[in-house]
Amino acid sequence: MPELPEVQALTAFLDERVVGHAFASLRVAAISALKTFDPPLPALDGRTIERVARHGKFIDLDAGGVHLVFHLARAGWLRWYDELPATPVKPGKSPLALRVRLDDGSGFDLTEAGTKKSLAVSVVRDPAEVPGIARLGPDPTADDFTLADFAAVLDGRRTQIKGLLRDQSVFAGIGNAYSDEILHAARMSPYALAAKLTPEQVEHLYTAMRATLAEAVAEASGKPPAELKDAKRRALRVHGRTGQSCPVCGSTIRQVIFADSTFQYCPGCQTGGKVLADRVLSRLVK
Ligand SMILES: [Zn+2]
Repeated sequence: MPELPEVQALTAFLDERVVGHAFASLRVAAISALKTFDPPLPALDGRTIERVARHGKFIDLDAGGVHLVFHLARAGWLRWYDELPATPVKPGKSPLALRVRLDDGSGFDLTEAGTKKSLAVSVVRDPAEVPGIARLGPDPTADDFTLADFAAVLDGRRTQIKGLLRDQSVFAGIGNAYSDEILHAARMSPYALAAKLTPEQVEHLYTAMRATLAEAVAEASGKPPAELKDAKRRALRVHGRTGQSCPVCGSTIRQVIFADSTFQYCPGCQTGGKVLADRVLSRLVK
């Protein structure tokens, strides 16, 4: 799943190419991807795109007060064409969800692999009309998101830090991969309870979060969409690396399997050598 750094890079990539251009046509191939009906999709036709913005993992193309907003979800992606194919868009089993044509013949496809479809497209007058955007927490990479703000968010939350970091209503844009990376950089157990962290641990985690995200944003910046996924995979130190050696301490990276997701950590760096059991609750391992 693309997270904040990749979505930021996609936003910048689109911003360079689409601002000042008008939508020529939008064709939906996967009906389930379109989550809104008013304004209708054709309301965008002929409108000039004024800016491209990111909200958490959402991308927002503002065409003079009518917004095309999309979320790539777990298996969605964006493919850019300087010259969009002329083949007709047919609803069916292809990964294509939406094709967007601009006035100069360029454009992009939103695609989604797999059978579980959760890519979401909305046409709204205000991005806050999208429920997922309305409930977003603060952007953890914002210049004005300080250590004090971070501490205030964590304060009193008897929640495991792993779940808290990837909760979009707490921190906008961090997902499963970067929460693993942040906790590894902070040398902190995924099961640590936010409310029990000392001020020193909170500061350490804040610094790790800011550095990990800044590094990933810089790494993704300027890369075309086609290269972003591989670049992300290469740069990850623990996420998706079960069984490999930790680049910091050499321990074998372990994973914890949940019903709908799997995460990785290094026992050497993060849990004092302790191997975390699957599906355990915080009262068992802290
Ligand atoms: Zn390690």
